[in-house]
Amino acid sequence: MKILNTIKDMRIAVKEAQRNGKTIGFVPTMGYLHEGHLSLVRRARAENDLVVVSIFVNPTQFGEGEGFETYPRDLERDSNLVESAGADIVFAPAAAEMYPLGAATYVEIASDITGKLCGASRPGHFKGVTTIVTKLFNIVTPDRAYFGQKDAQQVAVIEQMVRDLYLGVEIVPCPIVREEDGLAMSSRNTYLTNDERKAAAILSTALAKAQEMIKDGERNALEIRKVITEKINSEPLSQIDYIEIVNDRTLEPIEEIKGSLLIALAVKIGKTRLIDNIRLEV
Ligand code: AMP
Repeated sequence: MKILNTIKDMRIAVKEAQRNGKTIGFVPTMGYLHEGHLSLVRRARAENDLVVVSIFVNPTQFGEGEGFETYPRDLERDSNLVESAGADIVFAPAAAEMYPLGAATYVEIASDITGKLCGASRPGHFKGVTTIVTKLFNIVTPDRAYFGQKDAQQVAVIEQMVRDLYLGVEIVPCPIVREEDGLAMSSRNTYLTNDERKAAAILSTALAKAQEMIKDGERNALEIRKVITEKINSEPLSQIDYIEIVNDRTLEPIEEIKGSLLIALAVKIGKTRLIDNIRLEV
C-alpha cells in the first residue's frame, strides 16, 4: 500500500490505474479509524480494482470551538488498519495542500437541506464538507465513493451535490457499525469518560424503542419523538441537541410514519456531541 501526500502524486497514481482500465473506489475519512470506517474500505475493496482512502481532518467543516485542533490523529495506526482492510492507497495531504494560500472557492448547497438537523447547530459545517468532498472527488476521480449511514445528513447532502453538479460518482451508503451495547462507532467516542461511555448507549436504546413502536403499529411521529425525548432525558449525563423524524431524501419533517424515513438525533453526553439514526421503510 502506498501513502501519498501530494495532489500531484495522487493524480499520477489515478491516471495510471485508469489507463489500465481499473475502476476506483474511494473512502473519504478524517482518520482515527475504527471498524465503521474499515467496513467502508472492505466494501470498496470488494467492488473496485483500486481502493483509495483519504485521511484528512478538514478544517473548514469545524466551527469555532468544535475541536479541530484536538481531533484525534494517528496516521501510522490508521495506515496499518486500512492496509489490512485492503486499501491500495492512503491519500493524506497537509492542510496547505488542500487549502493553499489564496484558495477562495467553496461549494455550497443553496437549499435548506444543509440548514436542518446537524446544520442548525453547526452553521457552515456542510459547506466545509461539500467543498472538501468536491476537491477530493476532483483529485481521486472515483467511480464509486463510500459513505457511512451514520452521517445520514452527510449522505443526503452529498447525493444532492452529486445530482446537481453531474459529478458522475456513484455514492454508496453503508450501514452503521455499532459497539456491542449499540453505540454507533465514532472517533469521538474516545473523548468519553467511563461513565459517559455507559450513558452514551441511551442514543441507540432510544432509537431501538422507536423502531419497536413503529413495528407495533404507531404511526404518529410526534408520539414517537416524545418517547425518544423522554428516554434520552432519563439519562442525567445527556443533553438533547435535536431529535427529528424526516423524509430520508429531503430531510423535511414528517407527521405520519410512512415511506422512506429517517429518525435522527444528536445528543451531548457530557461535552461530547454524538449522533445516531435509523432509516426505515414503512
Ligand atoms: P469521519 O472520519 O468521521 O469523517 O467518517 C468517515 C466516513 O466513515 C463517513 O462516511 C462516516 O459516515 C463513516 N463512518 C463513521 N462512523 C461509522 C460507523 N459507525 N459505521 C459506518 N460508517 C461510519
